[in-house]
Amino acid sequence: MGSAASLLVCNARLVDGTGADPVTPAGLLVEGDRIAWVGAMAAAPAIGPETRVLDAAGRTLMPGLIEAHLHLSYRDVRELPDLDLKCPVEETTIRAVAHARLCLESGYTAAVSAGALHRVDVAMRNAIREGIIPGPRLLAAGRDICSTGGMLDWNGSWLKLGMEGLGIFADGVDECRKAARSVIKEGADIVKVYVTGEGMIFECTAEEVTYTEEEIRVVCEEAHRRGRRVSAHSRGAEGCKISVRAGVDIIDHGTLIDSECVELFAERGVFVVPALNYQIAVLERGPEFGFPREFLDQTLYREELDAAYRNMRRLVDAGVRVLPGGDYGFAWCPHGEYARDLQTFVENIGLTPMQTLVAATKWGSELMRMENEIGTLEAGKLADLLLVDGDPLQDIRILQDRARLSLVMQGGRAVSGPLARELGG
Ligand SMILES: [Zn+2]
Repeated sequence: MGSAASLLVCNARLVDGTGADPVTPAGLLVEGDRIAWVGAMAAAPAIGPETRVLDAAGRTLMPGLIEAHLHLSYRDVRELPDLDLKCPVEETTIRAVAHARLCLESGYTAAVSAGALHRVDVAMRNAIREGIIPGPRLLAAGRDICSTGGMLDWNGSWLKLGMEGLGIFADGVDECRKAARSVIKEGADIVKVYVTGEGMIFECTAEEVTYTEEEIRVVCEEAHRRGRRVSAHSRGAEGCKISVRAGVDIIDHGTLIDSECVELFAERGVFVVPALNYQIAVLERGPEFGFPREFLDQTLYREELDAAYRNMRRLVDAGVRVLPGGDYGFAWCPHGEYARDLQTFVENIGLTPMQTLVAATKWGSELMRMENEIGTLEAGKLADLLLVDGDPLQDIRILQDRARLSLVMQGGRAVSGPLARELGG
């Protein structure tokens, strides 16, 4: 891993993540782990002989991407036991280490977890922070909190199995409060609560609500008292309403919302991460994984996706921050395809490439409460950045091509890409 005490990147096309028009030719000066200067080349500061110079040769210079719905500990999930019974902690941890590296190599210098097995996220966050393993700066989740009979309670009661890795089952305000405290005790930054089901689990569908507002409220009280975020898995409108009224910060999915939700989300400033690529991939690749057509129809994913595209657009138009993040780790949407979500934001939701890049950088840093440190390229912030061969404003899909990520830098260290090797990475 190379680290340059002082490095001037010159002759780049700057897309700084604020939504401002691109600047060409632009440059950026890294000193230590931070950005000392960024702007038009004409205004570049004088540099001494100790500063290395990297000619970007017209490549796009942009902030590192932020994935907003990451499951580092999921891999090749095809059926429910792959999320639970077949996931001993040792194997799961080793897989998470590989995914963290892949995340960074895919241009994602930070990520928000949407749920983890065991304490894997917390261990990963700490190991990445300490420089023991490469990976994104991570907002770690703990085990999911779910009600008896809720979406995750899929193991038959007669089997007497329990669920040590994926979830904690809690009912009533006292148990919910204790579950939230347990997740915090284990070191998580985010407490995730399951409020509705989902289309592939026919016993607990997308519109079914499995918690009361009071139960969600105590989870939020405990988390917020300790400065943690709360995310709610919620697809249907009713589940979204009670979650947001109860105080959650992040709605994961939110696909089937109504006009009342749009107003409520805007008023409360919640973040929405629809995680659409999971559903898109089920429909596109489901047959390869043995899902019969009738099964795919029964999930109602096609209808849900069409609604979600319209609803996400309505949310953005109402000023709600909707973030890319695609639930990768299932067999049909493997880790490494993270930037596919950006294409969905442009092609299906109808955001401009610039809006999409802001959502994938600046808004992610706001969700992480790291907006003073990362998310945009501004003097004083950490040097988390990409040099991309091509212009993602012309074609957002190029961000899916790792060969075009010439340089991934995190905290001033060149961590991936051919230019990183040139810089001694
Ligand atoms: Zn997820």
